[in-house]
Amino acid sequence: TKWVYSFGAGRNEGRAEMRDLLGGKGANLAEMAAIGLPVPPGFTITTEVCAYYYAHGRRYPEDLRPQVEAALRRVEEAVGARFGDPAKPLLVSVRSGARVSMPGMMDTVLNLGLNDATVEGLARNSGDARFAWDSYRRFIQMYGSVVLGVEHHRFEEIIENVKLDRGVTEDTALGAQDWHRVVAGYKEMVEEVTGRPFPQDPEAQLWGAIGAVFGSWMNQRAITYRRLHDIPEEWGTAVNVQAMVFGNMGEDCATGVCFTRDPSTGENVFYGEYLINAQGEDVVAGIRTPQPILKARAKPGERSMEEAMPEAFAELMRVRETLERHYRDMQDIEFTVQRGRLYMLQTRNGKRTAAASLKIAVDMAREGLIDEREAVSRVNPAALDQLLHPTLDPKAPRKLLAKGLPASPGAACGVVVFSADEAEARAQKGESVILVRVETSPEDIHGMHAAKGILTTRGGMTSHAAVVARGMGRPCVAGAGGITVDYNAQTMMSGGQVVQAGETITLDGSTGEVFIGAVPMIEPQLSGDFATLMEWADRVRRLRVRANAETPTDAETARRFGAEGIGLCRTEHMFFDPGRIGAVRQMIMAESEGGRRDALARLLPFQRQDFVELFRIMAGLPVTIRLLDPPLHEFLPHGEHEIEEVAAALGTDVARMRRRLAELSEANPMLGHRGCRLGITFPEIYEMQARAIFEAAAQIGKETHKAPLPEIMIPLVATRRELEITRAIVDKAAQEVFAEQGYHVAYSVGTMIELPRAALTADAIAEAADFFSFGTNDLTQTTFGLSRDDAGKFLPLYVEKGILPKDPFVSLDVDGVGALVRMASGKGRGVKPDLKLGICGEHGGDPASIRFCEEAGLDYVSCSPYRVPVARLAAAQAAL
Ligand code: ADP
Ligand code: MG
Ligand code: MG
Repeated sequence: TKWVYSFGAGRNEGRAEMRDLLGGKGANLAEMAAIGLPVPPGFTITTEVCAYYYAHGRRYPEDLRPQVEAALRRVEEAVGARFGDPAKPLLVSVRSGARVSMPGMMDTVLNLGLNDATVEGLARNSGDARFAWDSYRRFIQMYGSVVLGVEHHRFEEIIENVKLDRGVTEDTALGAQDWHRVVAGYKEMVEEVTGRPFPQDPEAQLWGAIGAVFGSWMNQRAITYRRLHDIPEEWGTAVNVQAMVFGNMGEDCATGVCFTRDPSTGENVFYGEYLINAQGEDVVAGIRTPQPILKARAKPGERSMEEAMPEAFAELMRVRETLERHYRDMQDIEFTVQRGRLYMLQTRNGKRTAAASLKIAVDMAREGLIDEREAVSRVNPAALDQLLHPTLDPKAPRKLLAKGLPASPGAACGVVVFSADEAEARAQKGESVILVRVETSPEDIHGMHAAKGILTTRGGMTSHAAVVARGMGRPCVAGAGGITVDYNAQTMMSGGQVVQAGETITLDGSTGEVFIGAVPMIEPQLSGDFATLMEWADRVRRLRVRANAETPTDAETARRFGAEGIGLCRTEHMFFDPGRIGAVRQMIMAESEGGRRDALARLLPFQRQDFVELFRIMAGLPVTIRLLDPPLHEFLPHGEHEIEEVAAALGTDVARMRRRLAELSEANPMLGHRGCRLGITFPEIYEMQARAIFEAAAQIGKETHKAPLPEIMIPLVATRRELEITRAIVDKAAQEVFAEQGYHVAYSVGTMIELPRAALTADAIAEAADFFSFGTNDLTQTTFGLSRDDAGKFLPLYVEKGILPKDPFVSLDVDGVGALVRMASGKGRGVKPDLKLGICGEHGGDPASIRFCEEAGLDYVSCSPYRVPVARLAAAQAAL
C-alpha cells in the first residue's frame, strides 16, 4: 500500500480532491505545489495509516518506515540539506491535518531536526546564532509540551529567570547566549520531568511527533469536537512533514495569515495580518500585535506588509488571484516570507460569517466565478439562521462597558460566566450566558457552543475565539483589552465599572462593543444579497415552504420570510388566552351537551376573530388549521389555590372541580383522550371550530374579494372511520354557514399522519382525505414508542454512543419514521394521485429532513417562521 504522498519535492503525488486520504492540509499543499505556487517540499502520511494504527493496537504498517524515509530523502534533495546533518541540517515541521480542520488536534511542531549539533550548523549557515538558538529553544518548547506533555509554565519560568537575570523584560532583548542558556535549562527540566533526556536523534524526534499526531486523534478535546460537529471517528487524521522556511531570520522575514476576502463582511478586499521577524503561530498567539497586510487598513503607527515588503506583498496578491480563480472560493491562507521570498504554507476554504458567506456567494456569481446554482449551494442553510436574528436597536439606550474587536457579528445578551463548564451548566438550565475569557483554547469549545456570545480580553481577529465563534455562528467580541478579568473573584472590570458573574451584559459582535445590562434588539434586514440569494433558491426549489403559525405576529413574520402559506395552525394555543380560558373551562366542566354548547357559543366569536386575522394576513394563501388536539385537562387548573379561584369564577364548588379533574386525569395523556377522539366524543367542539373557520372565511372573502383557502386538519387519526365521522362534522358546518352567508368558500379536509396505524392504512384513510400532513413530532414518538418529554434521560447517551446517529426529534429518522412517511405517501397517492402531502413537525425546518422530504416527493414542508428562509434554501439545495 502507498502510505506516503510527496508534494513539492520534485513530484506532486496528491491533489485537492484527495482530501479524504491526505486530509485538507495535505491535499491543498499538494494542489498548491501542483499549480506552481511556492510551497516548501514535504510529504503527507495518509489518513489510512491513522485507521491502521488504531485497528492494530497503535502500531504502524510494516512498510511505512521505508516509505517515510524515501520521501524524506526527496525533501532533502529538493532543499539541498540533510536531516540530522550538522553541516547542513534539514529542519521540518510536523503538522496534523484531518479532512476538515479540527481544533483539538495536535499542535504543529516546528524546527524539528534541531539538536546540540545541528543548531551549530543552523547558526553557521544562517550567520545568525541568535536565530539558531531561539529556533532550538522554540523546538524544545513545542516538542516538549505537545509531544512529551510537559506543562507550558515550566518553560515560561525558565525564560522568565533568564530575563530576570539579564534585567530585561522583552524576549527580543535576549541574545544568542541567553537563548543558549534557556536551551540548557529546558533540556535539564525536560529530563527531570519526563525522566529521559530530550531526544537528540532527529529520526526519533520525527517518529515521536508522528505518533503524537495520530495519538491526538483520540484525545478528549478532539473527541468532543467531533461529537459537536458530527465528524465520524473513522475519518482519521493525516500527518504532514514539511521542510521549514523561516519567518524569523530578520527584518526581511515575516509570517502571516490572511483571507482572500473579508471573512466578517464578505467584502472583496484582501484581509489579513502579519508579523515581521516571527515564526509560526506568533500571529494568532497574541504575543505581539499583528500588523495589517493592506496599507488601506493600517491605522496610525501600524506598518502594513504592502509598505514594509512591497515585493513579497505583490507576490502574495498574485497568489490570492491564482487561488481564488483556482478554488473558486474564498481562501484562508498561511504564508511565510524568508529573506524576501514568499512561501505558501496552507490554503483552505475560509471560515466565514453567515453574512460573509451570503455576500461572497452572490458576489462570486456576479463576478462569473460560479453560477447561480453553485451560489445557492454555497450557503449553509443552518448558518442563514444567524442573519435572521435580531440586532441591537440603534435607538435603544445603552451603557458601554468596553470595546474590543468585532470578531463575529450579531448581538447577544446573557449572564456573565467565566468558565466553559459553567457556561454549559447554566445553558442547560435554559439560561442565556455570555462566556467571558481572557482568551479561549480548544478546551473551551463546549462552553462556547453553549454560550449565546463570547467575549475575550486578548487576541485578534484570527484568534482561537474569533475563528471558532464565526464558525459556530456565535457573536463574539475579541481582544477587549480594556477589560480585566479576575477568575478568582469571578468579576471583570473596565474603567472602574465592575461586573460580577451572573450579571447581564450585551455584546455587539458587529461593532465589538460590550454593554452593561440588556439592550433591546430589532428585526434583521431581509433585502439586498439575502433577497437575491433567496430568489435564486426559489428558482431552483420544488418543495413549497409554509410556516407553523397561530398568531397574527407569527403569520406576519412568516410572510415576511417568504412563507407560502400556513402549514400548521394549532387552535389550542388560542384557547389559553386569559380572555377565553374561562369559557374553555366552563365548557370542560359542563356535564351535559347543552352546557358545553353554551360555553362554546361564548368561544365562537373569539375563535372566529382569530381566523379572520390569519386569513387577512395570509391573503388567499393556504392556511392549514388543526382542530383541537390536546387532552382537555391541560386547560384546567392544577395548583390548590388556582383550583379555588377557578371554582369561584365558574360558580361551582371546589369538590366538584376536583371530581372533574380526577375524571379527566389520564395515565398516559399522550396516548389518551385527545385529537379526533375528542371530536368524536364531543362533536360540538369541532362543530364550533369549523363554524368559526367558515364564518371567518366568508367574512374575509366578502370583504377582500379574495377567498381564503382553509385546509382543515383532523389530528391523531388512526382509522378511516375516525376521519369520516369528524369530516362529516366539518362538512355539515360548512354547508350551514355557506347557506346562512350566501357565500361559498373552497376548502379541503385532511388529516395528520402521526400514528403508525394511520401510515399503515393510509390507502384507506386517503379515501376520506384531501391531504395528509405528516406530524413527525408525534409520529416519531409513536414510532419509537418513546415520549419526547422523558427522552432527556437517555437520548443524549444514545447519540453519544452512536446508537442513534442524531436526535430523531431534531433530524428525521429516515430509516424508521421516514419509511412510514414513504409508505403512507405511496399508499395515499395510490388511491388519490393528487393527494397533497406535507410535513409539519419540527423537522420541517431541518435541512437534512428537508432533503428527505424532497426525495420522498412531498409537496411542502412547514416550519417555524424564523426557519422559513432556512427551509427555502435547504429545499433548493435538496433539488440541485
Ligand atoms: P494549524 O492547523 O493549527 O493552523 P499548521 O500546521 O498550519 O497548524 O501550522 C501552524 C503554523 O506553523 C503555520 O501557519 C506556519 O506559520 C507554521 N508552519 C508550519 N509548517 C511550517 C514550515 N514548514 N515552515 C515554516 N512555518 C511553518
Ligand atoms: Mg494550531
Ligand atoms: Mg494552519
